[in-house]
Amino acid sequence: MISAEIISVGTELLLGDIVNTDAAFISKKLAEVGIPLYHQTVVGDNAERLESAIRDALSRADILIMTGGLGPTCDDITKNIVSRVFSAPLTMNDDAARTIKAYFDDMGRVMTENNLSQAMLPEGAVMLENHHGTAPGVRLNKTLADFDGEKCVIMLPGPPRELEPMWNESVMPYLREISPYVLYSLNLHLYGIGESAAEAVLRDIMNSSENPTVAPYACEAEVRVRITARADTLEECRNVCRMMSDRIRMTDIGKYIFAESTSDDEASEVMVRRMIDLCRKNSLTVATAESCTAGMIAARIGDIPGCSDVLEGGVVSYSNEVKMNVLGVSEDVLQKYGAVSEECAAMMAEGARRVTGAGIAVSVTGIAGPGGGTDEKPVGTVCFGVADEHGCVTSTEHFGSMKDRGKIRRLTTSAAFMKLIRRISEKYRT
Ligand code: ATP
Repeated sequence: MISAEIISVGTELLLGDIVNTDAAFISKKLAEVGIPLYHQTVVGDNAERLESAIRDALSRADILIMTGGLGPTCDDITKNIVSRVFSAPLTMNDDAARTIKAYFDDMGRVMTENNLSQAMLPEGAVMLENHHGTAPGVRLNKTLADFDGEKCVIMLPGPPRELEPMWNESVMPYLREISPYVLYSLNLHLYGIGESAAEAVLRDIMNSSENPTVAPYACEAEVRVRITARADTLEECRNVCRMMSDRIRMTDIGKYIFAESTSDDEASEVMVRRMIDLCRKNSLTVATAESCTAGMIAARIGDIPGCSDVLEGGVVSYSNEVKMNVLGVSEDVLQKYGAVSEECAAMMAEGARRVTGAGIAVSVTGIAGPGGGTDEKPVGTVCFGVADEHGCVTSTEHFGSMKDRGKIRRLTTSAAFMKLIRRISEKYRT
């Protein structure tokens, strides 16, 4: 079974100046092609330590993916050290030289001698084109006397905007060719249950199933259950995951599942996408009336391309004046129950629906802290309203006074989406 390792090169990574997003990106991509990854290493720009890290990695893995240190400056040492370990002297690669020159011509910049050094590749290497920068990537396959079997090293430049397209264009097709399996994941998204409670329900399934594997992950406002299958074809993987998903839906956690997704990119905003889908299915437009989130709910809808057919508008009603003058909240309600009350949330949601003409509106009003809490309404208390043609429902949530302001506001935003999802699922078509 072939396996891979990642070595990320760069002293800035060790100092914490930059976050190693390249390794996260590559790890996910390796999982997609079913190539196991057991180690990741970060090394500074130091020749001795880099050589030792490369040798360690080659003693364990067949494919070594290296990021960074391919630039034209003297601290960019990756190629030199690989060349030494693989006994493949650096030679001028004419294709690489031409590509680098064309890149500079295109940008209207003058190429310097050290830029041309980027066209020096280890003997026998394949150049991986970089359409977003000057450093070409490199793939080198060679049988080495010191290690078992053929080894493959893939070197990619550090900047993610260069590395990611190169990975998709040049590395992924190669890995798909050599990987004997397809790996596929299906995520079930759960709201209203914690990770350990979900795990307790799933324990027997998790212990008894090796393929697919089943694992719950806690995210900030939801729990995800990832079902991962390995098979010869994508079709087979999909079937295996689908059967497991059906089985999980029959358990006690079935009622908490609000959506499914098959890639992490989609998964990042799956709640908002689900709400938008439901609105579209029912020809509903949506509006928000936001106090403590000050526009976060509307902004997250706005993050989704093509949301304009669903998002009607939003009112940031922080002050009582805006609550009264724009949304029509009565002074009576504010005096009698306060701004953080279900009565106020109801009038805010109804007001937002009225002033925007939306089919459904959600409102939030709460205490995000750190100050402003009372015994009766501690920090983290948030009231919600959802108004539609059938009426208005309200609720109160307590997100905990120990949480920070940012977290309370983010949890409030996610809860608002869940209130919309549940209301639409209850009263309209799903
Ligand atoms: P360049 O030709 O741009 O110099 P390089 O391959 O030499 O590319 P580095 O000099 O190591 O790359 O890093 C350049 C920049 O790329 C860093 O300043 C950082 O912004 C980004 N970068 C490097 N490594 C990583 C990483 N592992 N994860 C995310 N970003 C990275």
